[in-house]
Amino acid sequence: MTYLFTPAPVQSLPIIGNTRRYPINRIFCVGRNYVAHAKEMGGEVDREAPWYFNKSAVAFAASGQTIPYPPGTQNYHYEMELVVALGADAFQVEADAANAAIYGYACGLDMTRRDRQQDGKDNRRPWDLGKDIENGAIIADITPAAQFGKLSGKRISLTQNGMLRQDAILDDMVWSVEEIVSHLSRYYHLTAGDLIMTGTPAGVGPVQPGDDLVGRISGLTQVQVTIGGSPQGRLP
Ligand code: MN
Repeated sequence: MTYLFTPAPVQSLPIIGNTRRYPINRIFCVGRNYVAHAKEMGGEVDREAPWYFNKSAVAFAASGQTIPYPPGTQNYHYEMELVVALGADAFQVEADAANAAIYGYACGLDMTRRDRQQDGKDNRRPWDLGKDIENGAIIADITPAAQFGKLSGKRISLTQNGMLRQDAILDDMVWSVEEIVSHLSRYYHLTAGDLIMTGTPAGVGPVQPGDDLVGRISGLTQVQVTIGGSPQGRLP
């Protein structure tokens, strides 16, 4: 096959203990999955069903680098999240069967133009400008699920310039990972390469150029970025 132009490269993540890389297909994100964060955003948790927004795979940026402060915002925020990496198909699966589709877990930052997200809320418009941001899905190396073990009791936290900003345990999630995979699989033919960012705990806040962000979940490789200066092009 001959293309009119060179196709965009596949985005991929390193895997702990594996020389092969994990190619990224889609990035799903869960909204309001921690009660305290829903409150700080002036909302409430929807206990009927989880809900989602998406980031493009090209929004991905690797951990451990400087990312540009993006154009189009005066209020760029960090959100520290557990990322689920699927390794098999899942379509209309029950929660107790969801684990079979999970390859591993990673630390991720769901970077957010909070002002553009608020515009969306105020005007009842989509959140894309607030959430689907170039270099705005920063994800660290994947740890295989068996190596990570049970999620229960594991701490999730974020420091900004060494100061603790977010601090919770994964048990605080309103919808469990299994429930999220099961629910999402009612709407999509989930497949290997699909990532799910599972929502952020309370304590989100703005970043400034020069800031150092480190997100940690016990048992996973930390995610780290430095916020750069004025907007640049998308990182390789
Ligand atoms: Mn989020």
